[in-house]
Amino acid sequence: MFGKRISKSQFMMGRQCLKRLWLYNYRRGLMPPVSPEQQHVFDEGHAIGVLGREYFPGGRLVDADFKHVREAVQRTAELVEEGAGLIYEPAFVFDNVLVRCDILKRNPDGSWDLIEVKGSTEVKPEYLQDAAIQRYVLAGAGLEINRTALLHINKAFVRRGPIDAQKFFLLADITAETAALLAGTGDDLERFMEALSSGSEPQVGIGQHCSMPYNCEFRGYCWKGLPEHSIYDIPRLSWEKKNTLKAMGILRFRDVPDAFDLSDGQKAALRVEKSGRTLLDKAKIAEFLGTIQYPLYHIDFETIMPGLPLYDGSRPYQQVPFQVSLHVQAAAGAEPRHFEYLGDGRADPRPGLIGFLLAHIGPAGSLLAYNAAFEARRIEELARDFPEHGPALQALPARFADLMQPFLERAYVPAQCHGRFSLKKILPALVPDMTYEGLPIGNGGDAQLAYYHILSGKLSDAETEALRQNLLIYCGQDTLAMVKILAHLYQVS
Ligand code: SF4
Repeated sequence: MFGKRISKSQFMMGRQCLKRLWLYNYRRGLMPPVSPEQQHVFDEGHAIGVLGREYFPGGRLVDADFKHVREAVQRTAELVEEGAGLIYEPAFVFDNVLVRCDILKRNPDGSWDLIEVKGSTEVKPEYLQDAAIQRYVLAGAGLEINRTALLHINKAFVRRGPIDAQKFFLLADITAETAALLAGTGDDLERFMEALSSGSEPQVGIGQHCSMPYNCEFRGYCWKGLPEHSIYDIPRLSWEKKNTLKAMGILRFRDVPDAFDLSDGQKAALRVEKSGRTLLDKAKIAEFLGTIQYPLYHIDFETIMPGLPLYDGSRPYQQVPFQVSLHVQAAAGAEPRHFEYLGDGRADPRPGLIGFLLAHIGPAGSLLAYNAAFEARRIEELARDFPEHGPALQALPARFADLMQPFLERAYVPAQCHGRFSLKKILPALVPDMTYEGLPIGNGGDAQLAYYHILSGKLSDAETEALRQNLLIYCGQDTLAMVKILAHLYQVS
C-alpha cells in the first residue's frame, strides 16, 4: 500500500482535480505565493472559526498547529481518553488521511456530533464532501458519529453591539447528506492514492473546475499555453460553449466560426475580433447621451465586504462603502469639479459618506456610474440602514445612467478591447493618455485591502497617510476616467 499521507484539504483538491492534488504534492514550487487578498480571506476565515467555538462554549482546544501534526493527534487522543465533552480542532488520521475537525461534541451515549464551521451564508455542495471525509476518518479512528452539522453564517444577521455567536450562526443538519457521500469517499481516496503513487502528472485539461468550487493555485501553469484573446476571454460565454469550442480544437477568439451559437453581443464582438475594425453605432450612442441630464454627477464608490460585520446596522458580507469620488459637470463638456470622501478608518464611514452625498448631489441631474447597478444598490442599502436619510437617498437611484451601457449593448466595440468592456479595458482604448498601470492602487481589490490595512490600526501615521493618498488617487481616477470616456462618446457620436 502506498503510504503517502494527505490532508483533508488535499482530499478536497483531488475532488476538484486530480492534477491539482498531484501538482500540490510534487510541483508545489509552481504555486504563486499567497497574495495579500488570500491572506485576508484566510485570516477572516480563521476569525469566523474561532467565533464558531462560542456557539458551543467551554470546549478544550487542541492548539498544536499544522507543523505539529503528531502532537495534535496525540493531544486529541488524550482528550478523548480523558472524557472531554467538547473539543476544538481535534486531529485524526486514518487510511493515510489527516483531518482537523472544527468542533466535536460528545453525546451522553458516548457518540459524537461533528460540527464544521464555514464562513459562508449557506450550505454549499462542497461542504458536504468536506464533512464526509471527516466522518470517514473519524469512523475509521473508532469514533461513533451521530450527527453531522454545518455552522454557517446567518445572512439575516444585523450587528447591534458585540457579535453574538448564537445569533450570527445557523446550524444546519447535514447528517443524511454526508452519509450518502460516505460510500464514494473510500473510492475517491483510492483513486487519489493511486494517482499520487504514479510518477507522472495526471492528464487533465483546463475547464470550469479550475475555479469551481475553489480557485486553483496552478492556473498560471495549466493555462499558460493559451493564445492571447482566447475563447476563455469571451464575456458571458457559458462553460458548455467553451468546452464545445475546445473540443472542436478552437482556442482563439477570432477562430470561432460565424455560425457558432453566440449572443448578439458576442457575435458583434466576434465580428470586431475577426475584422480588427472597431464597431461604432453612432445613433445608439447619441440615444444614450440623450438620456443624460445636467448637472451630471460622475460617481464611484469603493467598498469593503467583511464577513464579520464591523459596524452596527451592517450585515455579513454587506458591501460597505467607505469612499466616494464625485466629478460634477454643470453642462456637457464643462470643466468638472471634483469632490471626494474617504472614511477615517476608525468610525463607521457610512454616516459621513451619506452627509457627503446629500451635500454635494443637487436635486436635479443624472448620476453616472460605470456599472451603475452597483452604486445604485449601495445607495438603496444606505437608505435602508439609515432610515433617517431614507427619503433623500431613495430619490437618487432612479437618477442613474450607466456609462457601461453603450459598451454592454455593443453600440461601441473598440477593436483593442477584444470583446471586454470593463472600465479598465475601455479606458486605455478610448483615452490612451489615461491608464491604471503604475498606480499603487489599481483596482477595487487593492482598494479594499488598503482600507482593511488602515482599519487594522497597525500602520504608522505615515503609512496610513500614504495609503489614504493612494486611495484618493485611485477612486478619483475612476470618475475622471468616466468624464473622459463621456467626452469621447460625445466626440464620436
Ligand atoms: S489549473 Fe485546472 S487543470 Fe490545472 S491543476 Fe488546477 S484545476 Fe487542474
